[in-house]
Amino acid sequence: NDIVKFEALSPAEFFRRNREIAGFSNPTRAVYQTIRELVENSLDATETFKILPSIKIYIDYADQSRNWVSIYVEDNGIGIPGDEIPNVFGRVFYSSKYRIKQHRGIFGLGAKMVVLYAQSTTNTPILVRSAPLKSDVIYEYQLMIDITKNEPVIVSQRTLENKYAWHGTAIKVVLEGDWPKAKRRVEEYLRRTAMVAPYAEFVLRGPDEDDAIKIPRITTKMPDPPEEGLPHPKSVDVELIKQLIQRDPSMPLLEFLVENFDGVGETIAKTFLDFVGLPPDMPVGKLVNDELVNFVTKMREFNGWRRPRADWLSPIGEDILAEGVKFILRPEVVFTVTRKPSSYMGNPFIVEAALAWGGSIEPSDKPIIYRFANKVPLIYDEGNDVVRKIVDEIDWTQYKVKFPASLAIVVHICSTKIPYASAGKEAIAEVPEIESEVRNAVREVARKLRLYITRKEKEQELLMKYAI
Ligand code: ADP
Ligand code: MG
Repeated sequence: NDIVKFEALSPAEFFRRNREIAGFSNPTRAVYQTIRELVENSLDATETFKILPSIKIYIDYADQSRNWVSIYVEDNGIGIPGDEIPNVFGRVFYSSKYRIKQHRGIFGLGAKMVVLYAQSTTNTPILVRSAPLKSDVIYEYQLMIDITKNEPVIVSQRTLENKYAWHGTAIKVVLEGDWPKAKRRVEEYLRRTAMVAPYAEFVLRGPDEDDAIKIPRITTKMPDPPEEGLPHPKSVDVELIKQLIQRDPSMPLLEFLVENFDGVGETIAKTFLDFVGLPPDMPVGKLVNDELVNFVTKMREFNGWRRPRADWLSPIGEDILAEGVKFILRPEVVFTVTRKPSSYMGNPFIVEAALAWGGSIEPSDKPIIYRFANKVPLIYDEGNDVVRKIVDEIDWTQYKVKFPASLAIVVHICSTKIPYASAGKEAIAEVPEIESEVRNAVREVARKLRLYITRKEKEQELLMKYAI
């Protein structure tokens, strides 16, 4: 009788059907994306807590006739509490990172995509072993996902004695993948990750002898971890305000603003309430529909807020970035800059850039670009990225560069909210504030290069003069 049938789709089912939007579009990408998601979780679980990361990645053929690959990733991070493990790997949109603080992870999706892809291709569970800091036991689970319910399915579970006081997480999955094709991408991904995290060490072992790579730790200096922040008044929407009101509808407006938002003191809050025309002692729960919308509009319009604080960010820093770039690219010289914090729509961000010149850098017709967002290398989709656009716009002759030249540009953008263009996290959407900071950062290192080249030319001249 019904002409059309209606039904709801669970988040797990949605991502099973649309795995390409999370980067799992084919067996090659699936291997790369799996390693990337697991490594990024490992880095978040270590450096955010001041632990020097040691990450091991072992890849093997599980069944070569069917292209089954097993992927194992182990870290020395803070581990996962035993009772959280099933949800963390078995419930799409379950995360400890839905906070105002810089992380590599953002969606609460990566680990679950790995499980979903593995189970959709090989029907095997993920194996998880984890020990939180100072835990007497190691928790072990085999997990799958009930896709229609978006719930974890515990296939098996046990605890092991933690004899050697280990802490960290180890994961093993078997999935359909093309390791020979993914290999180059994975190696490149690790090299680039190491470039901005020279305080981490990586060991990769593949099925063949010549697959092994080891990237050593070259410094024990680490950036300060980010603090957890509050939303900036310019970044809010009506729904967020409603959620905050629900916590305590009786709270007076003045207090509501001071308690819930970044950088709002009593003076600023009073000035703002004057601007909106509301009394400071009115209970916030009294705001009704239209007033709420107006309140939010005014929050966005008001020009008296402080700039968002950048304590929630953890930039790499000029010295560590220079060390990483020197080690990975082996250039003649490196210049770096960490720009001052800036913001877009209430979200703080910092742009860092490195320029590497000469040495082992392959000469090419335009600058080689390495892009990073929250320390995550972006490898695909370079053509759509703002960084490519800006570097191409620059007139390099102004900086005494004649192509072909050995020139690499590294740009790192960190923010509590990276405007990614898609769930696969490969390119950054165009945001004018970010574009202009990227331009400033690249120009700043380019000027340092011009000085360097000029000085070298002078030295050369002198040398010629006295040689004759
Ligand atoms: P996201 O990284 O976006 O939060 P994931 O699905 O990748 O989403 O991970 C979900 C959560 O699982 C993380 O927020 C984190 O709390 C936890 N987690 C995943 N991997 C690890 C790990 N290696 N060590 C510690 N915690 C982890
Ligand atoms: Mg993640």
